[in-house]
Amino acid sequence: MAKTDYRFSKKFLWGAAVSAHQVEGGNINQWSQWEQEHAKTLAAQAPYVFGELENWDEIAGTAKNSSNYISGKAADHYRRYEEDFDIVRSLHMNAFRFNIEWSRLEPEQGVWNTEAIAHYRKYFEALEARRITPVVTLFHFTLPTWFAELGGFEKRRNIKHYLQFVEKVIDEYGRYIKYVITINEPEVYASQSYHEGNWPPQLHSKTRMLRVVHNLIAAHNKAAKLIHARGRRYKVSMAYNLSHTYPGDDARLTVWSAGMINYGANVYILRRTVRSNDFIGLNYYFTNRIYGYRTHNPDERLSDLGWDMQPSHLADVLEDTYDRYKKPIMITENGLADERDQYRSWWIAQTLQAMQTAQNNGVDLLGYMHWSLLDNFEWDKGFWPKFGLVEVDRKTMQRTPRKSAILLGRVIKKLRGV
Ligand code: BGC
Repeated sequence: MAKTDYRFSKKFLWGAAVSAHQVEGGNINQWSQWEQEHAKTLAAQAPYVFGELENWDEIAGTAKNSSNYISGKAADHYRRYEEDFDIVRSLHMNAFRFNIEWSRLEPEQGVWNTEAIAHYRKYFEALEARRITPVVTLFHFTLPTWFAELGGFEKRRNIKHYLQFVEKVIDEYGRYIKYVITINEPEVYASQSYHEGNWPPQLHSKTRMLRVVHNLIAAHNKAAKLIHARGRRYKVSMAYNLSHTYPGDDARLTVWSAGMINYGANVYILRRTVRSNDFIGLNYYFTNRIYGYRTHNPDERLSDLGWDMQPSHLADVLEDTYDRYKKPIMITENGLADERDQYRSWWIAQTLQAMQTAQNNGVDLLGYMHWSLLDNFEWDKGFWPKFGLVEVDRKTMQRTPRKSAILLGRVIKKLRGV
């Protein structure tokens, strides 16, 4: 990994990412409500959903236990954020991505929680004191229960509530903020929640999914306008989940369907929002090699979640995205579930190489946020997938940086010259 032909600008943002619900603990929102109602079912279904995984024997105990599906204290980051920021520093990082939890700030419609407001002020100050640049997300899959009960993002008229929250965040914390991610992975949220039926409200409707997609597009465009009206120094984007999707052969059906899948997954939302953006927030996890109209990946190396790992294809995604839109790109998420830390160093090395290749080919790259800083609550899968650079013992809440984290830290130190 210690190749030295890397050239990253001095201003390059090196960091890690988390989301509030996955690490903070003690959140009360539409998701925590759903956990209470569905934990037992998720535990009962685990053998059918995850039973084929190679590591099933290792994860079965946790995956079949309903407490795995309750976020509860998560990684207790709400209380331990200073310790976590110290770890960020110890890894020589200069950036951190997180979200301000809307349900904490506005637990009831129109009622702002002064304690939560003060908490995030201290949070920003703790980052500032360590000279860590915040990359702030405003909606990362969780919603106040009252907003979900009003119909969430399915209703166009509800967008105004989201915009009031956005305004509040800028009013309270604007002076600390430059980079804003309005919405995390709109395509993933809309499809998992409204089409695949995996996430709350667990619907199976294409029409409703598309309604949510269009409302999220409108919400982003309006939020960006509002934020920019407060000052041009704010740099705004969504975080898009972009994959490298390519035909595995040159059969007409394959080529056509790879094009369609790529358009739906990677182009549709981006095209309708990019004009509002100052940069493009890009989350990269997947490659899809298409044969006919299906994905058949080589599956040579699988993560603990059974995901085919092709970290080097990040270069293709960066180059395609840059060529299409010509806006600077920030990698806002990138990582893998790897409890034993057997692939993470390899993944990171390949990723560094991919970023360098893309930069050599003209891509303007602002930064890299690894997903995730900490082992955390992986939504409907609970706690067994371990995405953390830092291992978290959930009994003692002790943090232990994995070997790969130390290695990444060393590389960053060298590249930043610090
Ligand atoms: C999400 C994260 C999630 C990660 C790994 C992204 O889709 O933004 O919240 O934990 O992927 O699945």
